[in-house]
Amino acid sequence: MSPINSSTIVAKFGGTSVANFEAMSRCAQIILNNPEIRLVVVSASAGVTNLLVKLGNEVLSANEKESVLQQIRNIQNSILNDLGRPVKAQDVISQLIEQLAEIALHPLLITSTKLKDELLSFGERMSSVLFAEVINKISGQASAVAFDGRQVLKTDSSFAKAEPQLEATRKQANSLLKPLLKNKVVITQGFIGQDNFGNTTTLGRGGSDYSAALFAEAVDAFALQIWTDVTGIYTTDPRITDKARPIKEISFDEAAEMATFGAKILHPATLIPAIRSGVKVFVGSSLEPDAGGTWISKEVDYRPAYRAVALRNEQTLLTVKSPEMLHATGFLARVFAILAKHKLSVDLITTSEISVALTIDNPANTPIAGLVAACVKDLSSFCDVNVESELALVAVIGNHVEHNDGKQGGAGRIFSSLEDDQLRLICHGASEHNVCFLVKQENAKDIVRQIHDDLFSV
Ligand code: ADP
Ligand code: ASP
Ligand code: MG
Repeated sequence: MSPINSSTIVAKFGGTSVANFEAMSRCAQIILNNPEIRLVVVSASAGVTNLLVKLGNEVLSANEKESVLQQIRNIQNSILNDLGRPVKAQDVISQLIEQLAEIALHPLLITSTKLKDELLSFGERMSSVLFAEVINKISGQASAVAFDGRQVLKTDSSFAKAEPQLEATRKQANSLLKPLLKNKVVITQGFIGQDNFGNTTTLGRGGSDYSAALFAEAVDAFALQIWTDVTGIYTTDPRITDKARPIKEISFDEAAEMATFGAKILHPATLIPAIRSGVKVFVGSSLEPDAGGTWISKEVDYRPAYRAVALRNEQTLLTVKSPEMLHATGFLARVFAILAKHKLSVDLITTSEISVALTIDNPANTPIAGLVAACVKDLSSFCDVNVESELALVAVIGNHVEHNDGKQGGAGRIFSSLEDDQLRLICHGASEHNVCFLVKQENAKDIVRQIHDDLFSV
């Protein structure tokens, strides 16, 4: 087997980029214009994963289920129609929809995370088949092939937030994927993987970015392109304020902080494989591929004090108090052992002599919500736990933001326009790349707009 050319590019297309035939055709053109793009990772067509989540999580009557299934069928059928209903693809899609309908009606679905992951995988499995077909129609030859990425992306069995197994993934990529890339553009699925028992797993919502970075690492790619619906990473979510500006170049560290603290543009784990393997990452818009975008790399020329503001909703604040905490050893260890048992990670933490306050990501209607409830129950067995929800975490990302000299950076400038009662908890000083605080979710967007104005309008 000849080694993969180090110019191999992995390109990932998100849900809106593969929403329908027209969007898929635009993406096909991006691929066909660049022969270095050999591996393509796709999301489910926009809306499909949400419909699958609905089937898996809500108690629905048979009629309601059928109506959701019909919406999914309609999305696939409209693409098949625009393709001219090619027989082979049509057969594959009908089989997938049949299997999907069977799982949707399974009596144990609502309680089985294993079945839910199997169900959620169908969005990407269908879009990858259809997208390969679109590329071949546009190029007029069989240049693209759909490939079941579960054969390569091996994970543990933590359904809904599976952890990749890197060595096994690399081994599979070497034997199955790399040889294919020599002659074909390979279209595979983001978001999904497979455990050691052959069960389908998923990497968590928005996980296709992470999959693409894992695939890029496994095939020793030179670069990873993330094609989405905005022209790169902005100083804040452009949906929050039209004053948000695109960032041309950003370091891995800063971009990773942005992703961690809620910038939806990248799944939080995306940059872990990229940093490990040194794969450069580009983020751009499939709607305007020539409009440029953001390059994320290890070294950047410019490291401003303030880079961006990120917002993450659905935060829960737990304040844990123990009468014994005063001078008691081992209390924090006990609290963290329980959090670890439930696989919950803590984002912000502050402590006083008798209490500890910590925040947990707690998105509604996900398995995590159940874990938080179980964790609170366990903690309550040995201490008082106060739970506050409907909070949002705002993070100001930059360089040396922990310095408080007020000249270049500093927290003073961040908080100068906020009222004290708008802030619930502040974490400052632990990281050189962020200052974070909690606010009420209902005020969060206004606060982000305000801070963004203060820091970025010159
Ligand atoms: P995809 O389906 O392509 O993965 P997502 O919806 O997951 O796309 O992510 C793209 C969205 O991320 C944008 O439409 C934008 O609203 C949001 N977003 C949040 N923060 C940022 C940011 N700092 N810069 C750009 N986009 C952001
Ligand atoms: N389709 C999955 C989701 O909507 C994964 C992704 O698009 O990144 O969450
Ligand atoms: Mg996404």
